[in-house]
Amino acid sequence: MSVCLGCSSKWHDWRWQLRNRLRTREELAAYIDLTTDEEKALTEPIFTVGVTPYFASLMDRTDPNCPIRRQVIPLSAESRGICHLHRDPLNEEGLSPVPRIIHRYPDRVVLLATEICHTYCRHCTRRRRVGMMEHGLTMAELDRAIAYIASHEEVRDVLISGGDPLIYSNRQIERIIARVRAIPHVEIIRIGTRAPVTNPFRVTPDFVAMLRKYHPIWINVQFNHYREITPESARACSLLVDAGIPVGNQTVLLRGINDSLEVQRCLVHELLKLRVRPYYLYQCDLAEGIEHFRTRVAKGIEIIEGLRGHTSGMAVPTFVIDAPGGGGKIPIGPQYLISQSPEKVVLRTYDGKIVEYPEPDV
Ligand SMILES: *Cc1c(COP(=O)(O)O)cnc(C)c1O
Repeated sequence: MSVCLGCSSKWHDWRWQLRNRLRTREELAAYIDLTTDEEKALTEPIFTVGVTPYFASLMDRTDPNCPIRRQVIPLSAESRGICHLHRDPLNEEGLSPVPRIIHRYPDRVVLLATEICHTYCRHCTRRRRVGMMEHGLTMAELDRAIAYIASHEEVRDVLISGGDPLIYSNRQIERIIARVRAIPHVEIIRIGTRAPVTNPFRVTPDFVAMLRKYHPIWINVQFNHYREITPESARACSLLVDAGIPVGNQTVLLRGINDSLEVQRCLVHELLKLRVRPYYLYQCDLAEGIEHFRTRVAKGIEIIEGLRGHTSGMAVPTFVIDAPGGGGKIPIGPQYLISQSPEKVVLRTYDGKIVEYPEPDV
């Protein structure tokens, strides 16, 4: 095959990008010089491989440590079995009252709209399903999921995730959103998608015009490295934000890809320029085949410490560990509260000065 780096008239067509995902060793070899280990991992991949030509074009042809490449090309380390790793590290199946709903928190649920993605991330926490079964949401499943939300009045926030819900056509997505929006107690709808990063052509004026009929809509994306910020992904974010959709970013902390203060600082600054708010920085989950991406927890704390106070507060995400077994996201950070007594608290500032704050007499 020939490598099409923007030369094709189809290049800007998101459906063409999705249909032409690179999936085999031969197809990927047209974009990068595969290492022996990558060739081995691509021969019989355990988890699904698929990369849009657009995202593949961001990979460095010769550098095996390229941060884009490492997110999408498997290594043989994925097949290493390690006893503390799980198929379902967050017990999502156990927290699923009906198929495709995850109900972990009191007032919000996740609706898993699909198992398909534009591009399959090697660090996916839901890879037990995602990419492994490429069938969509059936009407019967949607009916049951909607009935569940409708009968739980405490659910005020519905996150449509997957897989990537933006693999669907505007009409199909609208069919889901319209039904969620029709439930009176649902206040906000959130969509989790990596399309602006891996297939930015998916975000079209028609798409945002459809979404804005269902406000308040929020979108969370996943930029993991500043090299994912391109004119195309910037345009996708700006279409969303211009339509009044607040866009947040959820970064996964990945060893060898973005586990440094320099990379994270540059990333969050670039995101703010796109009007995208850094929301979470995730410690890697204990999912099968992603051990080689895990960093020590201290690394994430060090990154937050290096951001907080040193740069715009809006640029600082919350570092979280999603509790193994399904307890929810736990915020972790540097310790600024040194001691606490009835009279006063002792604090430290971002640059290490010690200050006292007297408590009120109540
Ligand atoms: C992350 C997550 C949410 C949303 O959490 P927020 O902290 O509100 O962003 C909801 N449900 C499940 C199952 C989740 O994993």
